Amino acid sequence: MNTEFLKNIFREKKFRLSHPRLLIYQELSSAEKPLSPQELYQKLLKKKRRIGLTSVYRSLDLFESMGIVFKAVNGSSVKYKACESEDHHHHIVCKLCGRVAELDFCDISSWSEKVRESTGFEVTDHQLNFYGYCKACKS
Ligand SMILES: [Zn+2]
Ligand SMILES: [Zn+2]
Ligand SMILES: [Zn+2]
Repeated sequence: MNTEFLKNIFREKKFRLSHPRLLIYQELSSAEKPLSPQELYQKLLKKKRRIGLTSVYRSLDLFESMGIVFKAVNGSSVKYKACESEDHHHHIVCKLCGRVAELDFCDISSWSEKVRESTGFEVTDHQLNFYGYCKACKS
């Protein structure tokens, strides 16, 4: 995990990268699959990291607002994944196992144009998640 990347983005957005925040992010980014706040908390606890569950929740909220983690909501389950790309991108969530894949393309310009035509809004931003079944779950 690249700590320099994290330091830079925190500096840029004028947030303080405290030690607990760094540990939380490192744990999440080294995880193989998306984790719930509780799962992340348990993993930190096993490594004798004394970080409260509330801190975990708050840090994840902050990371999400900074755009460096993705919050995968699937029914009643909420899991987080550290983003691999710093650039604008979208995600697809597996409805069975919760696996998340990042999409490195965004082809929404024609859609934005339609939104502008039908509402008169100037589109500045958008969020769009995809859901489906991953290769393993499909079969
Ligand atoms: Zn992402
Ligand atoms: Zn799956
Ligand atoms: Zn997009």
